[in-house]
Amino acid sequence: TEGGVDCDVVVIGAGPGGYSAAFRAADLGLKVILIEKHQTLGGVCLNVGCIPSKALLHLVAVKEEAERLAVPGISFSPPQVSLDAIVKFKQATVARLTGGLSQMTKMRKVEVIIGTAEFLSSDALNVSTAEGGRAVRFRKCIIAAGSAAAHIPVLPDDPRVVNSTGALELPFVPKRMLVVGGGIIGLEMATIYGGLGATVDVVERLEGLLPGVDRDGVDIWRKQNNHRFGEIAVGAQVTSAVATPSGIKVTVQGTTSFEREYDLVLQSVGRRPNGAALGLDRVDVACDKRGFIVVDEQMRTSAPNIFAIGDIAGEPMLAHKAIHEGHVAAEVCAGLKSAFDATVVPNVAYTNPEIAWVGLTEELAKQSGAAVSVSRFPWAASGRAIANGAAYGATKLIFDKGTKRVVGGMIVGPGAGDMIGEICLAIEMGADATDMAKTIHPHPTLGETIGMAAEVEKGVCT
Ligand code: FAD
Repeated sequence: TEGGVDCDVVVIGAGPGGYSAAFRAADLGLKVILIEKHQTLGGVCLNVGCIPSKALLHLVAVKEEAERLAVPGISFSPPQVSLDAIVKFKQATVARLTGGLSQMTKMRKVEVIIGTAEFLSSDALNVSTAEGGRAVRFRKCIIAAGSAAAHIPVLPDDPRVVNSTGALELPFVPKRMLVVGGGIIGLEMATIYGGLGATVDVVERLEGLLPGVDRDGVDIWRKQNNHRFGEIAVGAQVTSAVATPSGIKVTVQGTTSFEREYDLVLQSVGRRPNGAALGLDRVDVACDKRGFIVVDEQMRTSAPNIFAIGDIAGEPMLAHKAIHEGHVAAEVCAGLKSAFDATVVPNVAYTNPEIAWVGLTEELAKQSGAAVSVSRFPWAASGRAIANGAAYGATKLIFDKGTKRVVGGMIVGPGAGDMIGEICLAIEMGADATDMAKTIHPHPTLGETIGMAAEVEKGVCT
């Protein structure tokens, strides 16, 4: 190990958690080194996650919207899909953002080392770079090494069996595709491939798609999506899969059973933390049974000068949670009294239509015995939703029965992800039904349905 460097804070991993932590620490006057094993910064989110998936989802949503316009009276000739051009658009979107990040590290004087980091002791790392090993001595370390897709053992090792990274490369549009796992990532990829012309089947082991999401929302989503997909099998799993020259022959068993051959199989059954290769045992950083690093509300691990943030520090594995935690860890490193005290972390499935939810769901409230009241506003009563062809959508708010404060919300329909932020703010501010109902929303908008849902709450207007 040669060419050792010293710093106040070293950050392992340049995903949304890591770059946010590095930038905040540098802004607070600390000397920061950011280590990333891939050539580009941005982690899973920018390179093979949030951003490329949204670029592709945007294209298929526009295509489907154009097709739908034939009914109200504007028709186009059938769309021509150029896979090469689509892949270029996706790459350009990612490159613009990762390039921007690189610029920002320079502006903030954050030193970037491209290489793989491993702990030597509680104040030193070795980084394996293309030029050999490099020692980094640090006062504080923030681990932001992220997660990787889990593998399903029953699926064969074959180029036609991919995870989300392989699927986002968009190698070809299969005739028939199987998505194993009906969570957010699986359904987003199914939306992309279905939109490009594949017949997509989905298999989910649990009794329903999108586990944990409000069932009314999922039911609306299903009604809107039945025509987009082949078979959606819930309460079923892949029991065998064999690679043959013509495809991957898969047997599915459960509440629905079938055997079918697929041109492409996507495994999207969750993600696992990337802790194994970091040498955590040398620094006494404790992990839980699933391999997530255990942290307190200041993001501090069991080693007092080492912090962990983002996917490697536990669920929910979402970029905005990683960013928030990155800021907390950096501020604590700089001596500030910050802590993770967010009440809620929102979730969005950027499918067609989108489903966004935050806080308590009706089902969770029932399970925990929490006394809540539920207000629903069906978009069939929203002028803008009808004008936009989205009358099937819905907005739902969950209020604490005693205080009338909002404790949860769900929106299904176009733009749901952009609108859920208002409900997050309302929950964080302790807003009650009257605050939300009496806030003037612009008319006619889909966002107005949030105020209207609050108005439905008993006692607000009656
Ligand atoms: P990561 O982004 O995983 O970054 C970790 C980085 O650490 C990686 O770049 C890795 O190369 C590096 N690293 C690991 N070990 C080492 C080492 N030893 N030395 C040096 N570097 C190392 N979330 C959302 O909020 N919204 C979305 O729309 C969304 N869409 C997604 C779509 C897909 C297909 C996928 C897979 C994920 C999506 N996510 C989304 C989840 C989101 O990508 C993650 O929650 C987020 O990237 C986590 O950030 P992170 O900083 O913890 O880790």
